[in-house]
Amino acid sequence: MAEIIDGKAISLKVKEEVKEKVLSFKEKYKRDVTLAVVLVGEDPASKIYVANKMKAAEFVGIKSLSFTLPTFSSQQNVETLVKSLVADKSVDGILVQLPLPKTLDSDKILSLIPAEKDVDGFSAENTGNLALFKDGTAPCTPAGIMRLIKSTGVELIGKHAVIVGRSNIVGKPVALMLLKEDCTVTVCHSKTRNLKEITAQADILVSAIGKPKFITEDMVKENAIVVDVGINRTDKGLCGDVDFDAVKEKAAFITPVPGGVGPMTIAMLMSNAYFCALRRELRGI
Ligand code: NDP
Repeated sequence: MAEIIDGKAISLKVKEEVKEKVLSFKEKYKRDVTLAVVLVGEDPASKIYVANKMKAAEFVGIKSLSFTLPTFSSQQNVETLVKSLVADKSVDGILVQLPLPKTLDSDKILSLIPAEKDVDGFSAENTGNLALFKDGTAPCTPAGIMRLIKSTGVELIGKHAVIVGRSNIVGKPVALMLLKEDCTVTVCHSKTRNLKEITAQADILVSAIGKPKFITEDMVKENAIVVDVGINRTDKGLCGDVDFDAVKEKAAFITPVPGGVGPMTIAMLMSNAYFCALRRELRGI
């Protein structure tokens, strides 16, 4: 029977660590850590995410500035706002809540955010730093996944990590992070052949697909660490990519949905905002 990795408790610990660091930062540099959050439109899920981010910022003592633009904002209006936040020396981190309305060019808008204010860690420069194993801002969900995996205390060196999903925001960065930890990494996707044979070899299995209960017990190795990133809304409520009830009987560690990876993302965002502020102070920018 697997040990459940408690993402709620670990995320609270991360936020408490950030809270202490933010307090020391304020005492030392006599200023706030400031995070600007841009929301365009009325998407209900995005509104909830933004509200949760502001709540977490308040908890850790980060000043958050919220900018809400109407759904039919022009590309120029959104770009003008982002550019003004880039130029604003009091702003340490800029977060543009995704997805943006389809009428907007998201890539162009995100590309305006310089690496030093990129709290999401999605910029080409931060992605490049991750690929080169250099310091930078790590994307929040993957960084949270790593924290959960490390919380098991299991030695990672030489372990076979299998990632199912190769998105830019989850699968690819997690693969790089596990490679950095000296795991042997296999990345699977929708065109992978014999998926089950590959996942069944995984000492560490990370599923980021977005398909309810896709990972069944027969796809999992005995005593594996199983991280379920998927968030799927079904008639029976929220569930992950992993058939939790069956897989928990076989794995050594498993993350639940909800209460696993989900809460970590916002906690790591707070950590990133603090690091952006600290780096700007240390570099005098
Ligand atoms: P994407 O849709 O961008 O990527 C899904 C990936 O899964 C793709 O690489 C796709 O392959 C692969 N895939 C799809 N079907 C299969 C299949 N049958 N077999 C193998 N691989 C498959 O999703 P995201 O990475 O953005 O998100 C994945 C899940 O994680 C979603 O449920 C999302 O809601 C959740 N999520 C949770 C977060 C959290 O904070 N907990 C944060 C971000 C995401 P291909 O590339 O070939 O199309």
